[in-house]
Amino acid sequence: MGNIVAIVGRPNVGKSTLFNRLTGQRKAIVDSIAGVTRDRLYGKAEWAGRKFSVIDTGGYIIGSDDVFEGEIRKQVQIAVDEANLILFLVDAEDGITGMDEEVANLLRRSEKKVMLVANKVDNAMRQTQSAEFYGLGLGEVHNISAMNGGGTGDFLDEMIAALPEDPEEEELDIPKIAVIGRPNAGKSSFINAITGIERNIVTDVAGTTRDSINTRYNLFGKDFLLVDTAGLRKKSKVHENLEFYSVLRSVRAIEDADVCLLIVDAERGFEGQDLAVFSLAERNKKGIVVLVNKWDLVEKDTHTAKRFEDNIREKIAPFSDIPIIFMSVLNKQRIYKAVEEAVNVFERRQQKISTSKLNDLMLPIIQATPPPATKGKLIKIKFCTQLPTRVPSFAFFANLPQYIKDPYKRFLENQLRQHYDFNGVPIQIFMRKK
Ligand code: GDP
Ligand code: GDP
Repeated sequence: MGNIVAIVGRPNVGKSTLFNRLTGQRKAIVDSIAGVTRDRLYGKAEWAGRKFSVIDTGGYIIGSDDVFEGEIRKQVQIAVDEANLILFLVDAEDGITGMDEEVANLLRRSEKKVMLVANKVDNAMRQTQSAEFYGLGLGEVHNISAMNGGGTGDFLDEMIAALPEDPEEEELDIPKIAVIGRPNAGKSSFINAITGIERNIVTDVAGTTRDSINTRYNLFGKDFLLVDTAGLRKKSKVHENLEFYSVLRSVRAIEDADVCLLIVDAERGFEGQDLAVFSLAERNKKGIVVLVNKWDLVEKDTHTAKRFEDNIREKIAPFSDIPIIFMSVLNKQRIYKAVEEAVNVFERRQQKISTSKLNDLMLPIIQATPPPATKGKLIKIKFCTQLPTRVPSFAFFANLPQYIKDPYKRFLENQLRQHYDFNGVPIQIFMRKK
């Protein structure tokens, strides 16, 4: 996991404007969890070749005119807990307000690296005015205009320099598994159940921030890292019931994992929030296993599981080639199978198909069912190969790759899935010019 930069500040100082500028056109990852979270929260950014994540801690109090001290405290607490660097944004148009002083006090007491950023410095006069922010006692004042971009280049250069070194990517060849799902689905119970069977923690592998500590286990003969989630450690009081926080945790757990175990509450069925978390894992191209938990509570006949499964596959289509396991953490039923399946998905995700085998398989299929001609032009795929990437990716070389549409790519993907086992593994199909 790379560095995390959090933006704090009272409403209307320009946090979301800065967030958008930093994350650019790339939409915030959590955009699609409509109704679950605000649309600005967490995004990816890059400057001078350095990648980092941005959290807009103001996201969850947007719209409230009265921001209470307690809200600001929460905001700052999240930033302190989650980020490597905090950007404290103030408004050069307004000057220092009481709430700015409050935030400054909280930040001074934290031990986090803080950069004080005066926004809305759109002209030279504001530049002079913004000198008053030195009074907040947080050192240098960085002047920017988030709206028109003024000063942001210099500021970003300094910000990048202030970030801790990017951690070495851990290239351990053992699966990193994240347990995700909506509150109450049974995540903590599941983790306790599997880790409680044998207390067998091998080692703590420290990540970048205090909170991203992955623990290595060797259970049932399987070696794996459990990506830390809120369930693993004592929940901080401030964060309890904070939806913003729980979504943020899922996003980060998913990013850090190879395989996600998505726990669904059987009594509630597969709902919108489950789908949102599923899509998040899918878009991040992570391996996925769906665990339908609390199966003990469901009245069953011979078709119940099948119906449940069909319903899930329908909702997650087109990526429905995933393992679905019915379990009861309470009865310790199939929890071993869940871990085993996660490890299997990891192994399938690592498989490499030789170029000759791939072409022997795919070229005859393509010849029998070629891509439809477009604008009177014949489209020819001549060759394909698996790329040396973490996510299984296949490149197909064609004379007119731009004319090959999604349905045909899905056809190719389905063919690959029929002949090789990618159960639970998102794969990518690229068309390239030959
Ligand atoms: P947030 O509540 O802190 O997220 O603030 P917003 O990003 O929503 O911005 C609040 C208002 O300030 C909006 O009307 C923005 O257009 C405006 N704003 C943001 N950055 C600048 C800036 O650099 N200069 C000026 N003049 N206005 C800005
Ligand atoms: P989390 O919020 O996802 O971590 O969910 P918890 O692990 O805290 O579980 C929420 C509730 O569901 C608790 O009361 C658990 O005892 C209960 N629970 C978890 N797994 C099962 C199960 O398999 N069967 C039943 N009946 N209850 C379960």
